Amino acid sequence: MTDAAPSGPTGDVTDRATTGFLHRYGEQPAGRWAAPGRVNLIGEHTDYNDGFVLPFVLPLRTVVAAAPQDGPRWTVWSELADSPVEFGVDEVAGPGRVTGWGAYVAGVIWALRDAGHDVPGARLAIASDVPIGSGLSSSAALEAAVLAALVDLGGLDLPAERRPRLAQRAENAYVGSPTGIMDQSAVIRCRPGQALFLDCRTEAVEHIPFDLAAAGLAVLVIDSRATHRHSDGEYAARRASCEQAAELLGVPALRDVPVAGLDEALGRLDQALGRPDDETRRRVRHVVTENQRVLDTVELLRAGRIRDIGPLLTASHASMRDDFEITVPEIDIAVEAALAAGAYGARMTGGGFGGCVLALIDADRADAVAAAVTAAYPKHTYPPPNFHQTT
Ligand code: ADP
Ligand code: MG
Repeated sequence: MTDAAPSGPTGDVTDRATTGFLHRYGEQPAGRWAAPGRVNLIGEHTDYNDGFVLPFVLPLRTVVAAAPQDGPRWTVWSELADSPVEFGVDEVAGPGRVTGWGAYVAGVIWALRDAGHDVPGARLAIASDVPIGSGLSSSAALEAAVLAALVDLGGLDLPAERRPRLAQRAENAYVGSPTGIMDQSAVIRCRPGQALFLDCRTEAVEHIPFDLAAAGLAVLVIDSRATHRHSDGEYAARRASCEQAAELLGVPALRDVPVAGLDEALGRLDQALGRPDDETRRRVRHVVTENQRVLDTVELLRAGRIRDIGPLLTASHASMRDDFEITVPEIDIAVEAALAAGAYGARMTGGGFGGCVLALIDADRADAVAAAVTAAYPKHTYPPPNFHQTT
């Protein structure tokens, strides 16, 4: 059991960024800036339905060591890449001019400049413990750490509450990846020991007590290592279903259908379509009930009843598996095995078709639950899962 990524570079991540900077540029950095990975406790595919999400941050971080350099030029080194990326004002004049991983950094600089900030030239060295592409938001961690470094080095006026939008713009418009506001909000605004209750319609945030350690609990994050099969097309299809249903129901978004009005809404949907459409009904049911599960989870956490959220997590998983149909066998196996090994609740987290499962467990059960999940994975069929524990 480890708190850090089990594969990839080892050693303290801040030290790695610092020594990386020193080796690469032959001087000490002016400072180090960090942002964590995140996981969504509950509220899946609710973001683009104007609904609710509840992410919290992990003890896995991306660290940027940085120092100013003359002129509007940027040099970026990452321990994960063979060669550094270098660019000047031409490359950050518009989206698409830097591609690959450097686009996340160039995108932040572009978004800052586009918002009228005078971004200082800089040398950057990046190290990270956040696994890449596992759904723990290494992309937002990278954007947030780079953003913090540039804001401080340049003395820019950009308070924390305005940073998520800017980082999201870098990822949406420059990198070209259509993510919601959750990832950037979580990694920039979450506090340790609390989850971030985010209303995706108003972008209002509230910090909700989530002190696992004090309750003797832990969240085991199980990286299924299932690749995101067909996830782009499936995501677009789910989103289109939800938007079409909202339109047929005459509401701005499915957020506006309360759980008490679900049956009535499904009846109206059948009428509007001229026949019962089982698939659309199930898509709507997932979103409407998932929003309610987020609200119920928040209520329990406010009352200090962390253990009691377990059944809501497990119900969320069943809804994603049966109604929204976004899970894959590796993920379902991990959830079942964690529950059988005594987890209070378990669910897939993230957009689906791969990624991670989270399980709420007693802190001293992490090794046992991890062993049970590994044993349940059919050998030779799937690569074994990775684990991260957080208290
Ligand atoms: P996730 O955010 O779930 O980890 P994404 O596909 O959104 O997955 O983002 C992963 C991408 O972000 C990587 O392919 C890479 O381009 C970039 N990235 C994230 N962290 C780093 C890093 N430490 N060094 C270089 N690139 C990184
Ligand atoms: Mg990402």
